[in-house]
Amino acid sequence: MSTLGASASAPVGRFAPSPTGRMHAGNIYAALAAWLIVKSQGGSMVLRIEDLDRERSKPAFIDGVQRDFEALGLYWDRGPHFQHDRDEAYAEAFRLLEGKGLTYPCFCSRADLHAASAPHRGEKLVYAGTCRSLSDAERRERMSSGREPAQRLRAPAARYGFTDLIQGPYEQNLAEECGDFLVRRSDGAFAYQLAVVVDDATQGVTSVTRGVDLLCSTPQQIYLQELLGLSTPEYAHVPLLVAECNRRLSKRDRDAALDELLARFGTPEGVIGHIAGITGLAPTDDPATPEELLKSFSLERFKENLADPVQILWR
Ligand code: GLU
Repeated sequence: MSTLGASASAPVGRFAPSPTGRMHAGNIYAALAAWLIVKSQGGSMVLRIEDLDRERSKPAFIDGVQRDFEALGLYWDRGPHFQHDRDEAYAEAFRLLEGKGLTYPCFCSRADLHAASAPHRGEKLVYAGTCRSLSDAERRERMSSGREPAQRLRAPAARYGFTDLIQGPYEQNLAEECGDFLVRRSDGAFAYQLAVVVDDATQGVTSVTRGVDLLCSTPQQIYLQELLGLSTPEYAHVPLLVAECNRRLSKRDRDAALDELLARFGTPEGVIGHIAGITGLAPTDDPATPEELLKSFSLERFKENLADPVQILWR
């Protein structure tokens, strides 16, 4: 019996694209890995459109991302669910955290944050706690200046860890390595960490496969699950596809965008086969549908094939 899935029943995985552009090789790789891991155990997939960032989530991208999944043969069994419909559920979770006295308003601007935070592990900034202990009078004074506060969650000086299916054991001391983190932004939008935890639980997700760039968010998510009384899925963080100089591929890399990939490899099967071949999801890079790859996919073999669990050069 497999170790994936929080219960003995078949796992539920998810595609969770942010609709801010067309799919690129990195998103396709993570989605294909998620699909293969779940389907190889007889599980099902949910599609969740992560359109929390309403400015950047354009309707054309929301349609486009679904068409891209379909064209690639990455079908889903439930959804699409949209984060823009879910404010009430996020607000309820927020009230629960607030009721425990664990949130506080933060008036820091982006510039304040950069000035007061120590860069940690590359990109992650540890919040210095500037607004953590403001008095009521100080809060009122800042409110009256018309600045809308964001809301932060107090991070405990405790280690939160888990065993990743690909990366192995990973843990963080939340206070030291992460700091108090945002659960609501100053524009009123709920933060990614809160939304993703609430959605994964509501949608019954038991298996999360995503890029290793989100590994360092997982202890925060496990802490939130604990506070909200939610169960923790199994996590598998796959390596990032990187361009030359260890720069991660992004939607800006035209040559890795789906339309360019289709031009280069001719068919969706050509694209899937190439990505599976260079990432160890398949033994060759022959054109194939996800369904065809599934016949010979094994998580153990995939792990053995990964020379570097953190990054793979895009070629
Ligand atoms: N929406 C995120 C992305 O497209 C993924 C978040 C997650 O998997 O937790 O990068």
